[in-house]
Amino acid sequence: MNTEIWHRRILNWYWIVVIFLLVSQVFYVLGVDSLAVKTIVYLKQGHLFVTSNILILICMVAAETWLRLNHNYHKQAVVSCGFIVSYLLYFVIEPFVDGAQMTLMMPIMVALVYFDRKLLHSLGIFSMIFYAAVYFGMERIFLHKPLLEFLMVEGVFIVFVVMAQGVIIRAHDARDSLEQLAKSEQGLMVERAISDKLLKMDALTGLYNHKTFHEYLDSLLEQCESNGLRLQLALFDIDNFKRVNDMYGHWVGDLVLKEVAAKLGGMIGLNDFAARYGGEEFAVIFTDQSFPEAYGTVEEMRINIAGMEHTYAGGRPITVSIGLCDYQLGDGKELLFRKTDHALYAAKRSGKNAVVTAVVTTGDDHFLSYA
Ligand code: GH3
Ligand code: MG
Ligand code: MG
Repeated sequence: MNTEIWHRRILNWYWIVVIFLLVSQVFYVLGVDSLAVKTIVYLKQGHLFVTSNILILICMVAAETWLRLNHNYHKQAVVSCGFIVSYLLYFVIEPFVDGAQMTLMMPIMVALVYFDRKLLHSLGIFSMIFYAAVYFGMERIFLHKPLLEFLMVEGVFIVFVVMAQGVIIRAHDARDSLEQLAKSEQGLMVERAISDKLLKMDALTGLYNHKTFHEYLDSLLEQCESNGLRLQLALFDIDNFKRVNDMYGHWVGDLVLKEVAAKLGGMIGLNDFAARYGGEEFAVIFTDQSFPEAYGTVEEMRINIAGMEHTYAGGRPITVSIGLCDYQLGDGKELLFRKTDHALYAAKRSGKNAVVTAVVTTGDDHFLSYA
């Protein structure tokens, strides 16, 4: 909770009580014709009464000033002011009202508002001791109040503290279960995010899987057609991969796939998208790039992959053949794939470890070999 707000509110409540009481006193004095009552407005005769009222105002103004001018100990200021004012109010009301001891319960209510168990216990014990001092030091001697009244007040203190403690415990329980609920909801969200990711990713390489690739390409092609977004598709196929598996085993093949995928993933830009298209085939979509830029990146990828060291695979270089196609508006996905596939096959035919681009002139596909 925002405790600062509560310091302010508690002090406001005290202000309301104090002002209400001062106004009531004025009406009381004006309305009663007894001389004894009239004298209480004079400082000399009204001793405790007038002094208490003045002290109340001083205390309230002091707490108010502290809250406004200082940044620390606001709670202590509010609690101390509340305690002192409650007792002073008691001294003011007590001569005229039965059960004025009710005002002494206010500090305990303050501890309840703060939901502070320690404060509740200390205020409870302090109130009991303080009232005992007031009773035995003043009330019993000067007002001859019966012991039963003292015991009743102390009893009410105990009941108040016990009940307030029950409320605080329940409130803490409720807060704990709310926190638990929030935590389990958070856990669920994380689990959902993980399973979402698992559905989209390829487990071996960590790249996007075939299904996600197609979904993404579909939405990108829509944007190409409607907003004129630029797009290039590159298909990568590892050369002679079967031989890697046959010579070094499947797990080495898996390791090579992981490394090649990591290299690809690390080289794409923020607007690009890399996926494992199939067994040893990868697809990369470039967006927001010119065709020569995409070609440059793909060529760099080819060179970097060929330059990787695979000691566990006999130290021989692993190479890739790549088909690259610039999307032409109106082509659609199928034609884009056909062209890219043709380019890839052309790269294989040209001796592998090469990038071949599909460049469209009127009507038919023409492939230009770059490497
Ligand atoms: P090319 O240069 O013509 O592409 O020859 P290649 O041997 O790479 O092509 P081919 O299509 O004959 O073989 C692909 C091999 O990839 C066959 C398959 O066992 C292997 N492969 C596919 N998926 C995996 C995989 O997840 N792990 C491993 N280790 N091998 C895989
Ligand atoms: Mg293949
Ligand atoms: Mg292959």
